[in-house]
Amino acid sequence: MPPPPGVALVSGGSRGIGAAVVRRLAQDGWDIGFCYRSDEAAARRVEKEANELGVRTLAIRADVSRAAEAKAWAARTEDELGPVAAVVANAGVTRDRPLVLMADDEWRQVMDTNLDGVFHTCRAAVFPMLKRRRGCVVTLSSVAGIHGNSGQTNYSAAKAGIIGFTKSLAKEVGAHGIRANVIAPGLIDTDMTEALPTKEREGLLASVPLRRFGTAQEVADLVAFVVSDRASYITGSVLEVHGGIAL
Ligand code: NDP
Repeated sequence: MPPPPGVALVSGGSRGIGAAVVRRLAQDGWDIGFCYRSDEAAARRVEKEANELGVRTLAIRADVSRAAEAKAWAARTEDELGPVAAVVANAGVTRDRPLVLMADDEWRQVMDTNLDGVFHTCRAAVFPMLKRRRGCVVTLSSVAGIHGNSGQTNYSAAKAGIIGFTKSLAKEVGAHGIRANVIAPGLIDTDMTEALPTKEREGLLASVPLRRFGTAQEVADLVAFVVSDRASYITGSVLEVHGGIAL
């Protein structure tokens, strides 16, 4: 029997891709400290499901756009579950609007969670990893961060920023035994894409060679691979999972 992989931090684990990541990592034996912003009932359900797989799971309310909350979440997870070996910076929001109509707070909210949130989450997790000379960082970008997307200047800017952030981090911490990679999904079936108008969904589907949205499970499977030792020589990479939409 291989030893258990350790403790993982997952931001935004209460729904969608984050919840699928929590369940998938639990199947691989990871103990997990995940955070959520507001949906307590959903968070408790995911926490219970993961615990039933025989690992220790801790759901903590923390808004990653606030540095102190991200720091406290990471510290409490280490106190209660032990040293964090992997962090998955997944929490994200959309506030779609054409640029000329975009309000200041629609720009700010997306930057605060999607970019500042990744900075706060990774800084809190990586600091103790440096001392242990072991760790793995995964950030969630998007095909919009690579190719852009109409109506998403705020979101695409944040997601492109995540790629620069993660590549820089990979260079900074590689010599300390820490890997950092980006996962860039295409259209994935979650609450985030459910909010799209039907006509827009249909138009988008026509541009996906596989003719369907991806599942959160398909993204979670890639996350599980990247944080595992099977990916031990992969760092600084942008791994795309998009059914061919970005070809
Ligand atoms: P969902 O909207 O389904 O879930 C978002 C999760 O993030 C929830 O758990 C939510 O918590 C949490 N969250 C949001 N803001 C904060 C915050 N400030 N602090 C802490 N937690 C927060 O999103 P998806 O699962 O679809 O997306 C997950 C990630 O994948 C995002 O970064 C997204 O940009 C990215 N992505 C998604 C794609 C898609 O097609 N779905 C495509 C490409 C990338 P709560 O439940 O409490 O609100």
